[in-house]
Amino acid sequence: MHSGIMTRLRRQLLRRNTNHQNNGTQTRAEPVFKDPRELQIMREAGRIVARVHVAIKEAIKPGVSTLELDAIALEILRKHNATSSFYGYNGFPANICASINEELVHGIPNARRILREGDIVSVDIGSYYRGFVGDSGWTYAVGNISPDAQRVMDVTEGSLWAGIELAVAGNQVRDISRAIQQYVESHNMYIVREYTGHGIGRAMHEAPQVLNYVSGDADSSLVLRPGLVLAIEPMVQLGTEKTKTLKDKWTVISKDHTLSAHFEHTVAITNQGPEILTLL
Ligand code: MG
Ligand code: MG
Repeated sequence: MHSGIMTRLRRQLLRRNTNHQNNGTQTRAEPVFKDPRELQIMREAGRIVARVHVAIKEAIKPGVSTLELDAIALEILRKHNATSSFYGYNGFPANICASINEELVHGIPNARRILREGDIVSVDIGSYYRGFVGDSGWTYAVGNISPDAQRVMDVTEGSLWAGIELAVAGNQVRDISRAIQQYVESHNMYIVREYTGHGIGRAMHEAPQVLNYVSGDADSSLVLRPGLVLAIEPMVQLGTEKTKTLKDKWTVISKDHTLSAHFEHTVAITNQGPEILTLL
């Protein structure tokens, strides 16, 4: 078969097989290794996401709606000739995800969702730039927050750094998963298992799946090599590992309504160690 068609078929297959939702062990798509030219574009896509985060962080204060945050994100994406990789993805109706307190991920920005003093808000941002995707999520405090809110943010962010540290050529995917799980569980919090990190490139969700806990899934034994790019993204809850999805079919919340947090960076495996693409 013509190789161009093969590539296209493989991409379609990848798109169908992989998403953010934990797909267990049934499917195993092949990871896509990026060449230096592709990696350079991914650096730019990642930097655009980082710029959006800087602006969002500045804008977050009591009284601001999540729809206003969405508008800020769109403006900055456009300014850098990028679009949102979330908008329209499986029908998602907004440019960013904004999830408040017990909302974990996939919250839909809304003019009536107003940030209040003491909230924490997880903002997930994806850019689409020159054919490649950058993806990073961060949980932000709105004014002064409770010790519990601070704790779940700190532990989730700490687990992200613990995972990134092991995103090193020669390690396996499960080394990242284990580091995240150990960090979170040693702080007596709960890793969400229904959603996972992922390979990233031309598609937002590529192989491998990057679990936040150790399991025997097929992707966990993949050996990391330069050119592989991963979105590492622990999702942590204070009271339970269980989630549920609201009637809007998107917003995922902790089943017991305890606080949750989500931190994510897009990270390239290089010969010099992990390179975080979604930083300025
Ligand atoms: Mg994300
Ligand atoms: Mg992601």
